Amino acid sequence: MQEFEEALLTLREAGRYRQLRRMESASAPRVQVESRELVMCASNNYLGFANDERVIQAACAALQTYGTGASGSRLITGNSTLHEQLEATIARFKQTESAILFNTGYMANVAALTTLFGDGDVIFSDELNHASIIDGCRMSKAQVVIYRHSDMADLQGKMEEFHHAKKKLIVTDGVFSMDGDIAPLPQIVELAQREQAFVMVDDAHATGVLGAHGGGTVDYFQLDARYVQIQVGTLSKAISSEGGFIAGDQVLIDYLRNKARPFIFSTALSPGVVAAALTAIELIGAEADRRNRLHRLSIQLRSALAARGFQVQQGETPIIPVVIGEERRALAFAKRLETLGVFAPAIRPPSVPVGSSRIRLTLMATHSDRDLELILHAFETAGKEVGVIS
Ligand code: PMP
Repeated sequence: MQEFEEALLTLREAGRYRQLRRMESASAPRVQVESRELVMCASNNYLGFANDERVIQAACAALQTYGTGASGSRLITGNSTLHEQLEATIARFKQTESAILFNTGYMANVAALTTLFGDGDVIFSDELNHASIIDGCRMSKAQVVIYRHSDMADLQGKMEEFHHAKKKLIVTDGVFSMDGDIAPLPQIVELAQREQAFVMVDDAHATGVLGAHGGGTVDYFQLDARYVQIQVGTLSKAISSEGGFIAGDQVLIDYLRNKARPFIFSTALSPGVVAAALTAIELIGAEADRRNRLHRLSIQLRSALAARGFQVQQGETPIIPVVIGEERRALAFAKRLETLGVFAPAIRPPSVPVGSSRIRLTLMATHSDRDLELILHAFETAGKEVGVIS
């Protein structure tokens, strides 16, 4: 225990000891956090379905029919009509032949990388990919080559070095989770075609948010789904439930169903979360207005923050990083925001590079215009006090 205690002490001294915050209400634009009402600016409930009455009712009805737990893995006794319906719905939504569920997006990434790639293969991975991709790469026995963030010249150079590898894969986040930028998928696909490599996209933050149909980055760039053979997603963000999935060709999904250890050796998702996800995906198809509003708000808030002198990455996704710089200043900024009624925690190393600590705002389609005014007012006040803007 002494070793762990010392490590914790080091974290405390560096100001990096992490503490849990306690939410006392649903993840909506106004939340109750430790007895205070705040404007929530850090939720992945992008479209507002996590507290939508129709989604809640669907989950309740499934609980009444199927009970609380699936009580078995999919291949033994845990498979239900609902699981099959959800996989078929995801395949339609992603315009692929088939899809397979996992218990989290994290597990879906690990499953894809460790089951499909191994000894003699090479995985080319963007340096800013999500931790679950990094872990999946480490756990696979493939050689891993990191390329500079969305840098196609660097990727091309590195791919040429490994021309004769057995199988090759380019893996990228669709929308990067800390910067909110969109991967250059058309160029990645072009390179992959030239080098005969697979493409895998993790669309955790793009699913339901980007594209004419909310289908994610493939939909956004109007690419043929056959060129992105492995489409990973999570049910925990815009789809407002929990779980993850891989969508792709029938043969790929059949292979995963037979070989992927995270699928085989874990209990199936519980009926309530499966039903919630099913309803949310239906609503994504039926209510494009939510997606359009989210898009509009994201652009509006970015330009309003930039106009006030903040360092904001331009873009169109609901992940809006406001770079503060030094770690302690970002912490002080987040603390002041909170006293002004806005919940938007600081993101610090190791999640982001040293010197680029930031406030990572995320918007929801259900934020009102008044919420946006409050956010801007809090940023302006805190920004002046902490010395981020003049
Ligand atoms: N990929 C990305 C890009 C993510 O941001 C996340 C969630 N933080 C995941 C995968 C993991 O998804 P889940 O929370 O469903 O495990």
